[in-house]
Amino acid sequence: MPELPEVETVVRQLDQVLPGRVIDKVEVLREKSAQTDLQDAVGMKIVKVRRKQKLIVVELEKIEDIGNDKLNLVVHLRMTGQLVWRKGKPKLKTRNFKLKTVESAKADNLDSPGQVQGGHPSVDWVQELPSKHTRIVVTFIDGSVLYFNDQRVFGWMKLIQSSELRTQISKMPPDVVDAEFTIKYLQGILKKTTSPIKVVILDQQKMGGMGNIYACDSLWLAGIKPARKASSLRSNEVRALHKAMVQVLHRAIDLGGSSYSDFVDTAGLGGKYQDEFLVYSREGEGCRRDDCDGVIEKIKLGGRGTYWCGGCQK
Ligand SMILES: [Zn+2]
Repeated sequence: MPELPEVETVVRQLDQVLPGRVIDKVEVLREKSAQTDLQDAVGMKIVKVRRKQKLIVVELEKIEDIGNDKLNLVVHLRMTGQLVWRKGKPKLKTRNFKLKTVESAKADNLDSPGQVQGGHPSVDWVQELPSKHTRIVVTFIDGSVLYFNDQRVFGWMKLIQSSELRTQISKMPPDVVDAEFTIKYLQGILKKTTSPIKVVILDQQKMGGMGNIYACDSLWLAGIKPARKASSLRSNEVRALHKAMVQVLHRAIDLGGSSYSDFVDTAGLGGKYQDEFLVYSREGEGCRRDDCDGVIEKIKLGGRGTYWCGGCQK
């Protein structure tokens, strides 16, 4: 399941190639994947691609009607969603075929990669598209195509007016990488609950962005036992945890996320974070902290596999 760093990675890559492109056609191959009618997007130009929690927001505007309430194509990848953007195929030569100048062909190649992809990895990334998992096909007037593939059909696309989207987003808690996610905010959440600290930081209703891997690693970095009651953390521990959460998530974003949890980035290579797991998936291995000779254990907390070191996490 793509987590925040993976979603951020695909958003940054799509934001490199989509702005300025005008939607020519939207084909819905599986009704369930389109939560609203998507046809209003036809004729609109992409302005920007951004993210809130794991929502991918593609801002649209009418070419001749700038300034009105804008539409947004909002995408959620959920378990197995993936987005693949491909440049248009060169048209077959005909008698009337006008050869591109070498210069413009070069510029085309330099301007953008031929393919951008992100989300759940599968052979759909390298094979002919649409595939049997393709649910929605967005074609641009330049011939390039954005495919929304989703094997298990939990993901979705919908069109939302900007005013409505603002209202929805205003009700969402801050992401761990947002400026509003302060130590004070975290402290306020933690003191109200006796649930295990790890369960609380994974709760997307309270804060956005901590996937299971990142929660385990943040708690190890902060030296806090995952099963501790959230309300039992002292203020110096809350400070350390806040710092660790922000640090782990930024590191994961810098590394393009982790392909361990089914993620491969746009170059098809996968994020690099899995090479740097601090504690996640290291069951039975020695603790990575220099001054600790503990061994990593795996337990279940809130139904999720939880890795931690009894030697240094208190
Ligand atoms: Zn340790």
